[in-house]
Amino acid sequence: MMKDGFGREIDYLRISVTDKCNLRCRYCMPKQGVEVLPHEEVLTLEEIFRVVRIMESLGVKKIRFTGGEPLVRKNLVKLIGDVNGLAGISDIAMTTNGLLLEGHIDALKQAGLKRVNISLDTLEPSVFEQITGYDGLARVLAAVDAALDRGMQVKINCVPCRELNDGGIEELAGLAREKAVDVRFIELMPIGCGKNFHGISSEEILERLERQNGAAKKELPTGQSETAQYYAFDGFQGRIGFISPMSHKFCGECNRVRLTVDGQLKLCLHYDNGLALKPLLRQGAEDDEIRERIAAAVKEKPRAHSFSDKTAQEHEEQRKMVQIGG
Ligand code: SAM
Ligand code: SF4
Repeated sequence: MMKDGFGREIDYLRISVTDKCNLRCRYCMPKQGVEVLPHEEVLTLEEIFRVVRIMESLGVKKIRFTGGEPLVRKNLVKLIGDVNGLAGISDIAMTTNGLLLEGHIDALKQAGLKRVNISLDTLEPSVFEQITGYDGLARVLAAVDAALDRGMQVKINCVPCRELNDGGIEELAGLAREKAVDVRFIELMPIGCGKNFHGISSEEILERLERQNGAAKKELPTGQSETAQYYAFDGFQGRIGFISPMSHKFCGECNRVRLTVDGQLKLCLHYDNGLALKPLLRQGAEDDEIRERIAAAVKEKPRAHSFSDKTAQEHEEQRKMVQIGG
């Protein structure tokens, strides 16, 4: 078991497998894109697997693949299969924009992917195109159905922004009425392009949904480290969830670290400090040395983010969300 300096058990690794993306969501990525890393700076799938294997031996149980868009990375299915073969890993999930999901769904399921979070901010095709720069809503909705059809657990993640999708929040929440999916609203964080928009608080959205659908029943905490607070509405098949990093910090229960595409073990979303694993991986370090360095780095995990503090802070993350993976 790996604990940080505040006694939090770290058993969850989020892996960004690419900094490339086939969409340009306005709160995440500039229209012109970001400069992607040269090929040699990106961890190979073998290097990623080695890090996962070492972290499994330190007690990591849960893996999430993210990006950029994870499904643009070639041979990701093979990596998922390899990770699924590690006895200590009990949960493998992915966060995707869904565009390429339908075509890969059977291979992903066979490789061991059990759960998928699909990012979707609107059910209005023209608004989808305005937000993402691409006319792809129908493909994402087809991917939702394909994943459900294969028995996967599906969660929809929406980032409500005043300037982008405010008018369609209630309609999007209705997906949880029609389908067995949880729809989760994530408060916009002031990272990268997110600073250019205004998020909508979880409290406001809950109020709006209760006005439309009647009072919701708040779910009791499961005891597991869960960042979302869930609610049940009468007549809904799925739940409505709120992830509220801005209005209700959940740092006290944070159980996660991140592996960036260039091999940094990143300790907190808000800060850029961490351990550069790539030199260790490429300069002949033994597993034991890497294990010790990771355990030592995790001890330095910051206590909490401070997104609401507007003054410039030491080690504040300057990368865009597409480069970190959310
Ligand atoms: N491309 C994949 C996708 O869109 O699901 C994975 C990477 S994306 C960066 C992961 C999640 O971060 C998405 O659900 C996206 O909506 C969310 N996100 C991006 N920028 C954000 C911000 N500033 N605040 C909160 N969430 C953000
Ligand atoms: Fe790409 Fe995901 Fe960012 Fe949208 S949110 S630009 S799909 S990385």
